[in-house]
Parts: sequence; structure tokens; C-alpha cells
Amino acid sequence: MDSAGLSERLPHITGLQCVICGAMYSLDEVMYTCPTCGPVGTLDVLYRGGAHRHEAEAGLLTMWQQPDILPAVPPAGLQKFGGTTLLGPESLTKLAAEIGVAELYIKHDGLNITGSLKDRASAMVVAHAVQNLGRQVIATASTGNAAAALAGVCASTPGSHAVIFAPATAPEGKIAQMVVFGANVILVNADYDTAFDLCGAACDEFGWYNRSTGINPFTSEGKKTVALEIAMQLRYHLPDVIVVSVGDGSIIGGVHKGLVDMQRQGWLDKIPHLIGVQAAGSDALVYAWENQLSAAEMQDRPANTIADSISSRLPRDRAKALRAVRQTNGAFIRVTDEEILAAIPALARGSGVFAEPAAAATFAALKPALAAGMIHPHKRVLLLVTGTGLKDVRSAMQSVNSEKPPVVEPSLDAVHSQVKHWQIA
Ligand SMILES: [Zn+2]
Repeated sequence: MDSAGLSERLPHITGLQCVICGAMYSLDEVMYTCPTCGPVGTLDVLYRGGAHRHEAEAGLLTMWQQPDILPAVPPAGLQKFGGTTLLGPESLTKLAAEIGVAELYIKHDGLNITGSLKDRASAMVVAHAVQNLGRQVIATASTGNAAAALAGVCASTPGSHAVIFAPATAPEGKIAQMVVFGANVILVNADYDTAFDLCGAACDEFGWYNRSTGINPFTSEGKKTVALEIAMQLRYHLPDVIVVSVGDGSIIGGVHKGLVDMQRQGWLDKIPHLIGVQAAGSDALVYAWENQLSAAEMQDRPANTIADSISSRLPRDRAKALRAVRQTNGAFIRVTDEEILAAIPALARGSGVFAEPAAAATFAALKPALAAGMIHPHKRVLLLVTGTGLKDVRSAMQSVNSEKPPVVEPSLDAVHSQVKHWQIA
């Protein structure tokens, strides 16, 4: 590792700014959150102007393609991350008409390597840790996806090690990913928020680098790459509205950061409205938005939902999430678990996208958001699908419980007896 300071080695970064008090820090001064504001004082990574804007090239898309506004270059194993498919509007015309919007797009981040958008944050943090900081052990607390992503990213980066703190109730598929990728996993007999605090304490104790959302400013820099990609894929003609599911608030905060970074560089003439979707059983940010609370005023709320990825009592990235919605004249909306479950097959059948419950929540929110006037019918709307349905097969099966296929004897008669109930040509 170069002995020069970090700010000297990363001259395109001007510093870190607290989202609460606005204080600026150099990269060498602070590692995680604002020393004055404490954990609620998350930090923005700020860049110099005059960044070169790259255009999408045919057949080549990754999360690393705007290096002037990214904090790290990827080690060899991480170059493959990001670069997910953007669907629409032509293939989604029928679905858009059914819902009642002018154009519909889906950014399918379930197609990331470990199956969720969290790959972006983990890849960026590990790139920063390994390339810029010379750190090798990276720990995170996670409801599942960020942990699976960190495990997969570390498995792709020789010399790095993932340490995971996850609630013991995390879906089996996600736990399987962590273990298969060879992470050191601690399943905590408590909820996510408790696992989060334990991870922070363990990082202090053992000297590990903490990737946890809402603590590490570089997770936002990873998550923002989804916005950079959307802009490239749509040739900087962005949709009017982007709908994002929200738990800890870090993805919507990251999307917003990407949009703001592009706007500051003069790459965009306007920024889409951001609509944050929460589960009704875990609605701390909807409640704060409805009651005009600041991030610092927010208190614990209950967190019970089938959408494990967006279950959070007190969202860690609440300051960035509230800012994302307020600054873009967006909205927060809640959907019930029943609506989320119904959205899984409805989205899959209308678009070919199999989403996990948290990701399907964005689709569930479309009609209520239209009815509430949060989305206008003549707008171009993009759904961010953050994780694949294969992450949580149990919930997926629950969503189609009444349609579970029968087991039949191996005879054509048995097939006939089934086919007569079907409505196919
Ligand atoms: Zn501060």
C-alpha cells in the first residue's frame, strides 16, 4: 500500500460530507459516520467537477464504467459485477397499460451475480478496502442479501475474508449462499437491528472493516451505480419516476446519490421523483414522512413483514432515504404483506421477472401510488427490482399456494384430466 494519505491517492474525491450537519471531512480524517452527529450522521463521498461522462457501449456494461465519480477501481475478480438488464418499454407495453402508466421499465438487479443489488455495495466496499485501504477482513450485518453479496464478492477477491452477522431467521437460500461462498457466518439469535449493533462492536473488538449499511459511506457509492447504469442504458433520458423498496433506506439513498452526482456533473437536466415503498409491518420511513419527522427525530417502529430484505425497526440510512424522497418531490407508500405476495406472480407473469418479496413490493405499490396521485398516468415509470425470487422460495410458493400443481399418475388419461381445466389454445 502506498504510504501517501488516502486523500492524496484519490484526488478526484474532495472529501466526505455529513448529511445532517453538512460538515466536511477529508478521507484521512473519518472512516464511518460524522463524529459530531453520531450514527445518524451518515456521510456523502463528494467528487470534483469536470468528470468525463461515458456512454453505454454495445455488449459491455458493468458497475465500474464512470470511474471519475467512483471511489475505487475493481480488483480483477470484481470487474464482472453490475451490468444488469433494463427491460421496457416495448416488452412491457401490455403491463403498463394494465397498470395505467405511459411507459414502464424494470431494472432487473436480481440478475446480479449473487442475485441482488447488494452485490454493488459489497463489490465497491471490498474494492475500496482492498485497493485503497489495504484491509482484508470485511464484516457486515445483514438481513441476508448484503451478506450473501459480501460472501460472493470476497470469494471473487483472493486474499479478502467476509465475516457475516445475520438474524438466525434469514431465509435458507441466503444462508446457503453465505456458507457456500465460504464466509465466516455468525447467525444471531435476534433481529437485524441487534445483529447490526453486534457487528459494529465486533469490528471495534477485532479490527475488521465494517461494510454495514448506514455506517460505511462507500456502500452508497456502490448502490448508486444502478442509477449510473440506468442513465447509460436510457442514454441519459431518465424516467419520470423511479420506484424503490425501502428497508434501511440505503438503496433509495444510493439511487439518489447517483442521480445527484450525475446532475452535479451536468450530465442530467432533471432528476426523477423517487417513490419509496415499505411493508405496512415495517413502515418507519413512511411514518416519518407522513409526520414530517427529521431523521434525528425518528424512533423505533415495529418490524414484522414477509419481505425480510426491507424489515427494519429504525432504518440506519434514514437520513439519506428521507432526503432522497424530499429533494425529488417523491413520496413514501406502504403495502401490506398480502399485496406483496400477490405481486410476486403478477409481476412474474406480466414481465418475466421473478422477484423476491421486497422487490415485488415495488410492483404492489404501483396501483395505490397512482390512486393516491403520487404517480401520474402519463408518466414514464421505472421499477427497481432488487432481488431474485430464488432468494426466498418459501414466500414464492406461499404466493401461489392455491395453484400448487397436483401430482398425477404417468398416463395420458391423467394429463387429459388436467388439460381440460386449462385455458390454453
Ligand atoms: Zn454531522
